[in-house]
Amino acid sequence: MEVYEDYEIKNIYENKDGRLRVYISNGKKHKVISYPKFLLEKYLNRYLTDTETVHHRDGNPINNDIENLEVLERKIHCAKDVIRNRPVRFACPECGKEFILEGKRLCDAISNRKRHRAGPFCNKHCAGKYGAKVQNGMSSIESEIAKLEKYKQSEENA
Ligand SMILES: [Zn+2]
Repeated sequence: MEVYEDYEIKNIYENKDGRLRVYISNGKKHKVISYPKFLLEKYLNRYLTDTETVHHRDGNPINNDIENLEVLERKIHCAKDVIRNRPVRFACPECGKEFILEGKRLCDAISNRKRHRAGPFCNKHCAGKYGAKVQNGMSSIESEIAKLEKYKQSEENA
């Protein structure tokens, strides 16, 4: 399987942010994606993962020469951009307290969110409490399954 097999480029246009987008179609489905991402995925013949992003080596977002494109982990990419990011206010999912993150901690929070992880939390204590609850939840499900299995066995033996 090739990436974007059967898809044809219908249109390439400049987005509001000045970056190029590509409109592709296979006759049934249509997609609008980042043009440099499309180019790099075609070139590598694989789709980028959720944590990967396209970096322009020379910093010019419209220089989509394949030599200028590289795959970068989103976390690292974020760290480069984070200086421009302003502090963001969050509410702790454990205690509800509002707090502000910036810099590297904001960067981590964003990349965790993108990976659908819980958080961010106001402090390690809350993160620990929340994590323990999730784990307890899991083990109670496992013990329920174990009980059911035992029940099934005793039924079969009867
Ligand atoms: Zn908290």
